[in-house]
Amino acid sequence: MTFAFDNTYAQLPERFFERLAPVPVAQPRLVKLNEALAESLGLDRDALRSPEGLAVLSGNRVPEGAAPLAMAYAGHQFGHFVPQLGDGRAILLGEILTPSGERFDIHLKGSGRTPFSRGGDGRAWLGPVLREYILSEAMYALGIPTTRSLAAVATGEQVVRETVLPGAVLTRVARSHVRVGTFEYFHARQDVDGLRRLADYVIARHYPEAKATEQPYRTFLSAVIGRQAELVARWLGVGFIHGVMNTDNTSIAGETIDYGPCAFMDAYHPNRVYSSIDHRGRYAYGNQPRVAQWNLARLAESLLPLLDPDPDQALAAAQDLIEGYTARFEQAYLAGFRAKLGLFEARDEDPELIDGLLLAMSETAADFTNTFRSLCDAAAGTAGPDAAPLADAAPLSPWLGFWHARLASEAGDPQARAAAMRRANPAVIPRNHRVEAALNAAVSGDLDPLDSLLRVLSRPWDEGPETRAYSLPPEPHEVVQKTFCGT
Ligand code: AMP
Ligand code: MG
Repeated sequence: MTFAFDNTYAQLPERFFERLAPVPVAQPRLVKLNEALAESLGLDRDALRSPEGLAVLSGNRVPEGAAPLAMAYAGHQFGHFVPQLGDGRAILLGEILTPSGERFDIHLKGSGRTPFSRGGDGRAWLGPVLREYILSEAMYALGIPTTRSLAAVATGEQVVRETVLPGAVLTRVARSHVRVGTFEYFHARQDVDGLRRLADYVIARHYPEAKATEQPYRTFLSAVIGRQAELVARWLGVGFIHGVMNTDNTSIAGETIDYGPCAFMDAYHPNRVYSSIDHRGRYAYGNQPRVAQWNLARLAESLLPLLDPDPDQALAAAQDLIEGYTARFEQAYLAGFRAKLGLFEARDEDPELIDGLLLAMSETAADFTNTFRSLCDAAAGTAGPDAAPLADAAPLSPWLGFWHARLASEAGDPQARAAAMRRANPAVIPRNHRVEAALNAAVSGDLDPLDSLLRVLSRPWDEGPETRAYSLPPEPHEVVQKTFCGT
């Protein structure tokens, strides 16, 4: 089993991490291997399935060329600053280069205690590991930047949460695991040299175009802001609620990271929260754009010493860039929802049209995914405004009138419009009740529902006999109200 390791993070100063190997587990058993991802990474899937591969994926063997370490980071959790978090249950094995020359972190989550574990046991259990697997792969198939899941391995050990549960390790693949909280870590220690080393590292790895500009650190901050704005706009477009948008869960590379108590919404409401720990709705669906800006302001604060030698100038530059987030988010959001509504032209009235639909949807608790998907048929003229679920929602009919009039006022072939809309409105998302059913079955040893779900989620735009059951909203007794971190 060989990995094309080329470790760069491990060459940063020792205060950036703690070097240690994963803690071995009793009896590893491969639950799920992502063969398509393995292939794109240039990894031999048969070797990964072999006892030797399993030893690596469970943390029982450190592969040749790895430089295992737990990363140091800080973070604002629900608005409160914690100066030291770090990988408390994860190990970065190293970075590999793919056949096409791309660089990815190979990271084991649930791999045992580290110096950053605080009171935790360093372990994860199978439910949340498979949950992250399903949701991250669904996100990837939707074309939204995300970390991915290479494998889920049961450890043969038990972890104690509210009850005793089967332990597991997830192999996570990411463009990097540097977070906003990594910058905050050095900022909190007034370690300007560390900050500069980290910024230079991230620029070289993720934002190389910034290097040649007049103000590389400002360009870098601006680019991170742009990626976050686009990411959150993409989340809103598929009804995704991250659930724990703490700064330590905000990737500097702009990927969706840390799938905890997250969810894709069924019935639309801007205040929707699924996380069992988000009592005040800080991370509700509609708050996410603001929270991202708040998180980026924490990054900007951390970067101040690099933005300008004069503190006033630095602050002014940071404020300017952070204020610029609003327009960048709006632009990405409008572009996304225009595509969802099949609007080929951009007009001043668009925000009102979009808000009008969302308001009507919130009043009727309309299913987010299916409402947009049914608009595709309505645009094609193959389903009139009588088709469900639009027909069930009387408050939608005035809006449908406005929308049809708008479409009629634009040039464009209805079939082409509907086809474009079908690429902007998934037929299938990982519905909470389906995810829960697949996880329950998998934890009791039946992997078939998980496999079927993953197969359907890998082609979210397709509609067919196999997908129909997966696109149905939950029956009242199936509705999932809360999701848990389960750490
Ligand atoms: P999260 O909420 O998953 O983003 O984790 C926040 C922090 O808690 C990170 O520093 C994690 O490494 C740490 N953490 C979460 N679960 C555990 C656990 N079971 N054992 C040790 N540390 C943990
Ligand atoms: Mg985290």
